[in-house]
Amino acid sequence: MMTNMIKNATANHVSCEIGYILLGEKINGIWHAKMTWRRTGSPVSVDFDWQKVMDREETRGDVVGFFHTHPKGLNSPSARDKKTMNAWSTCFGKPLLCLIDDGHGTYGWIYNAQDETVSTVNKTAIFRRKVVVAVE
Ligand SMILES: [Zn+2]
Repeated sequence: MMTNMIKNATANHVSCEIGYILLGEKINGIWHAKMTWRRTGSPVSVDFDWQKVMDREETRGDVVGFFHTHPKGLNSPSARDKKTMNAWSTCFGKPLLCLIDDGHGTYGWIYNAQDETVSTVNKTAIFRRKVVVAVE
Protein backbone atom coordinates (compact mmCIF):
# COMPACT_ATOMS: atom_id res chain seq x y z
CA MET A 1 0.00 0.00 0.00
CA MET A 2 1.41 3.36 -0.97
CA THR A 3 0.50 6.93 -0.22
CA ASN A 4 0.39 9.51 -2.98
CA MET A 5 3.54 10.96 -1.57
CA ILE A 6 5.40 7.71 -2.06
CA LYS A 7 3.98 7.20 -5.53
CA ASN A 8 5.10 10.66 -6.55
CA ALA A 9 8.52 10.15 -5.06
CA THR A 10 8.88 6.91 -6.98
CA ALA A 11 7.64 8.46 -10.19
CA ASN A 12 10.26 11.18 -9.97
CA HIS A 13 13.07 8.67 -9.63
CA VAL A 14 11.84 5.71 -11.60
CA SER A 15 15.29 4.31 -12.24
CA CYS A 16 16.86 4.77 -8.80
CA GLU A 17 16.31 3.15 -5.44
CA ILE A 18 15.00 5.31 -2.62
CA GLY A 19 15.69 4.56 1.01
CA TYR A 20 14.55 5.69 4.43
CA ILE A 21 15.62 4.91 7.96
CA LEU A 22 12.74 3.70 10.14
CA LEU A 23 12.62 5.36 13.56
CA GLY A 24 10.03 4.14 16.03
CA GLU A 25 9.15 1.26 18.28
CA LYS A 26 7.71 -2.24 18.40
CA ILE A 27 4.99 -3.29 20.82
CA ASN A 28 3.25 -6.68 20.83
CA GLY A 29 4.44 -7.57 17.34
CA ILE A 30 3.34 -4.26 15.85
CA TRP A 31 6.03 -2.01 14.42
CA HIS A 32 5.33 1.71 14.23
CA ALA A 33 7.87 3.95 12.57
CA LYS A 34 8.50 7.22 10.86
CA MET A 35 10.29 7.08 7.49
CA THR A 36 13.16 9.52 7.83
CA TRP A 37 16.37 10.70 6.16
CA ARG A 38 15.37 9.94 2.58
CA ARG A 39 18.21 8.90 0.32
CA THR A 40 18.29 8.30 -3.41
CA GLY A 41 20.72 5.70 -4.66
CA SER A 42 21.62 4.00 -7.90
CA PRO A 43 19.24 1.80 -9.95
CA VAL A 44 20.35 -1.25 -7.95
CA SER A 45 21.20 0.03 -4.50
CA VAL A 46 20.77 2.79 -2.00
CA ASP A 47 23.22 3.62 0.71
CA PHE A 48 22.49 5.22 4.04
CA ASP A 49 24.54 7.54 6.19
CA TRP A 50 25.60 4.69 8.46
CA GLN A 51 27.44 6.88 10.94
CA LYS A 52 24.29 8.94 11.44
CA VAL A 53 22.25 5.75 11.90
CA MET A 54 24.76 4.44 14.42
CA ASP A 55 24.78 7.73 16.37
CA ARG A 56 20.99 7.77 16.44
CA GLU A 57 20.79 4.21 17.78
CA GLU A 58 23.41 4.97 20.43
CA THR A 59 21.69 8.12 21.65
CA ARG A 60 17.99 7.28 21.21
CA GLY A 61 17.81 3.54 20.59
CA ASP A 62 14.86 3.96 18.24
CA VAL A 63 16.20 2.70 14.91
CA VAL A 64 13.80 -0.12 14.05
CA GLY A 65 14.78 -0.81 10.46
CA PHE A 66 15.12 0.31 6.88
CA PHE A 67 12.79 0.96 3.96
CA HIS A 68 13.87 0.99 0.33
CA THR A 69 12.43 0.64 -3.13
CA HIS A 70 13.22 -1.91 -5.82
CA PRO A 71 12.52 -0.04 -9.05
CA LYS A 72 13.09 -3.19 -11.06
CA GLY A 73 10.25 -4.89 -9.22
CA LEU A 74 12.02 -7.54 -7.16
CA ASN A 75 9.62 -8.08 -4.25
CA SER A 76 12.09 -9.73 -1.90
CA PRO A 77 15.41 -8.80 -0.30
CA SER A 78 18.50 -9.08 -2.50
CA ALA A 79 21.61 -10.93 -1.35
CA ARG A 80 23.08 -7.54 -0.44
CA ASP A 81 19.94 -6.60 1.51
CA LYS A 82 20.16 -9.81 3.53
CA LYS A 83 23.80 -9.23 4.30
CA THR A 84 23.14 -5.62 5.33
CA MET A 85 20.15 -6.49 7.52
CA ASN A 86 22.01 -9.27 9.32
CA ALA A 87 25.02 -7.02 9.88
CA TRP A 88 22.88 -4.27 11.44
CA SER A 89 20.83 -6.65 13.51
CA THR A 90 24.08 -8.07 14.88
CA CYS A 91 25.49 -4.60 15.47
CA PHE A 92 22.41 -3.28 17.30
CA GLY A 93 21.76 -6.54 19.13
CA LYS A 94 18.07 -6.56 18.23
CA PRO A 95 15.69 -7.61 15.44
CA LEU A 96 15.30 -5.11 12.60
CA LEU A 97 12.56 -4.50 10.07
CA CYS A 98 13.34 -4.56 6.34
CA LEU A 99 10.63 -2.99 4.17
CA ILE A 100 10.78 -3.19 0.38
CA ASP A 101 8.50 -1.38 -2.03
CA ASP A 102 8.51 -2.97 -5.49
CA GLY A 103 6.17 -0.39 -7.01
CA HIS A 104 3.08 -2.53 -6.43
CA GLY A 105 3.17 -2.91 -2.67
CA THR A 106 5.32 -2.81 0.42
CA TYR A 107 6.64 -6.09 1.82
CA GLY A 108 8.40 -6.67 5.10
CA TRP A 109 10.86 -9.01 6.76
CA ILE A 110 12.23 -9.12 10.28
CA TYR A 111 15.90 -9.99 10.57
CA ASN A 112 16.94 -11.36 13.92
CA ALA A 113 20.68 -12.05 13.93
CA GLN A 114 20.57 -13.12 17.58
CA ASP A 115 18.61 -16.28 16.84
CA GLU A 116 19.46 -16.28 13.12
CA THR A 117 15.88 -16.09 11.93
CA VAL A 118 14.10 -14.15 9.23
CA SER A 119 10.33 -13.87 9.40
CA THR A 120 7.85 -12.38 7.00
CA VAL A 121 5.68 -9.46 8.03
CA ASN A 122 1.98 -10.16 7.56
CA LYS A 123 0.78 -6.66 6.79
CA THR A 124 2.25 -3.25 6.15
CA ALA A 125 0.57 0.11 5.74
CA ILE A 126 2.00 3.51 4.98
CA PHE A 127 0.04 6.40 6.39
CA ARG A 128 0.27 10.12 5.83
CA ARG A 129 3.38 11.94 6.99
CA LYS A 130 5.49 8.87 6.18
CA VAL A 131 4.28 6.83 9.13
CA VAL A 132 4.57 3.11 8.53
CA VAL A 133 3.00 0.26 10.50
CA ALA A 134 4.01 -3.37 10.08
CA VAL A 135 2.27 -6.31 11.76
CA GLU A 136 4.21 -9.49 12.46
ZN1 LIG B 1 17.17 -4.11 -1.96
